[in-house]
Amino acid sequence: MTQVSERLASLSPSETLAMSQKSSELKAKGIDVINLSVGETDFFTPDHIKEAARKAIEDNFSFYSPVPGYIDLRQAIAGKLKRENGLDYPVDHIVVSAGAKQAVCNVLLSIINPGDEVIIPAPYWVSYVEMVKLAQGKNVVIHASIEQDFKITASQLEEAITPRTKALILCSPNNPTGSVYSACELKALADVLVRHPEIVVLSDEIYEHINYCGRHESLSQFSEIRDRVVIINGVSKAYAMTGWRIGFLAAPLWIAKACNKLQGQYTSSASSIAQKAAIAAFSGDQSCVKKMRDSFLYRRNLILDLCRSIPDIRTSTPQGTFYIFPDMSAYIGHKTIEGQTIHDAAALSMYILETGHVATVGGDAFGAPGHLRLSYAVSDEQLRQAVQRMKNALTALK
Ligand code: PMP
Ligand code: GLU
Repeated sequence: MTQVSERLASLSPSETLAMSQKSSELKAKGIDVINLSVGETDFFTPDHIKEAARKAIEDNFSFYSPVPGYIDLRQAIAGKLKRENGLDYPVDHIVVSAGAKQAVCNVLLSIINPGDEVIIPAPYWVSYVEMVKLAQGKNVVIHASIEQDFKITASQLEEAITPRTKALILCSPNNPTGSVYSACELKALADVLVRHPEIVVLSDEIYEHINYCGRHESLSQFSEIRDRVVIINGVSKAYAMTGWRIGFLAAPLWIAKACNKLQGQYTSSASSIAQKAAIAAFSGDQSCVKKMRDSFLYRRNLILDLCRSIPDIRTSTPQGTFYIFPDMSAYIGHKTIEGQTIHDAAALSMYILETGHVATVGGDAFGAPGHLRLSYAVSDEQLRQAVQRMKNALTALK
């Protein structure tokens, strides 16, 4: 019988996108669902960026671009890395892709041999472990609990390293927890990594600008490991451009070249029009970024405040992103729905969707059973309503 490959069969669908899809389906049926599932801002792309896209269409940027992206876009990215991060990257170390998601996947497919180990701190973004599977690597998950603000320690990292370790994926500010590593915490990790020169570090910085605790810190700042750090970033979150699909990686030349070769065979390049728009994002007025961040900070405070009224929910105080990741273990394994014990966070999330009409994502998909992820990138009014509905649904449980 004809069937999908074993590689595909072993892959789980993206839970974040699945919950968002489910929420859209319910909305289409006329149910008033509040969607706190997908990680996407509710702002529109700033006007000067849209204008650049219109101009690109008028100027006939309708042809294939170079595989790693237009040179002027890569120059704009190099300019951003210099200006904002103090890093020098020649343009041939930069590869533009269809979103940061493709950039992560490009790197993993370029460096992982079957059986190579990739260290992933949990809670993690849903796609990392699936991409490692796709690359036939082995996920080595390190757990960081809410008590440690969801951040791994240097000794946890050291313990997870084996002769087969090929890469570490570190995401800060972090999806799904909102935690942000300090320079000091990163330095402790860098001190471990310096003793293991074969490990490549993927530093996922897509939430760089949604940071409430000051300067963005990255493992790339430590010169002793910089030749093995790959920065992953893009325009989706900072510039409210999720649908434009532009991300990039800045990497050692051998990795950039490998990703270029790979991308040349399977997507050619990112969209030409979106690339031109991204130049305006990286080089234009940055006040839109601050405006959106200020508004996310306001909403973070609001949702934390509102959640205090829900019994037995435990949250950290996230320093970045637009997620909270509360511990709901008082409900899981303890409360019941129609006589059946709620056995995992996915079941709790489904109950809240069906009963309260609020879409969230169960922590299992992020390697943290017992938690729920709530995205607060919605209006203040929706946040108030969503938390009230969640409270009603949760307090009705026996
Ligand atoms: N990394 C993380 C941690 C994310 O949350 C996302 C969100 N989709 C991505 C990468 C991918 O972003 P993009 O939309 O640029 O593909
Ligand atoms: N990164 C977002 C999220 O975590 C978008 C969805 C996805 O790409 O998985 O919800």
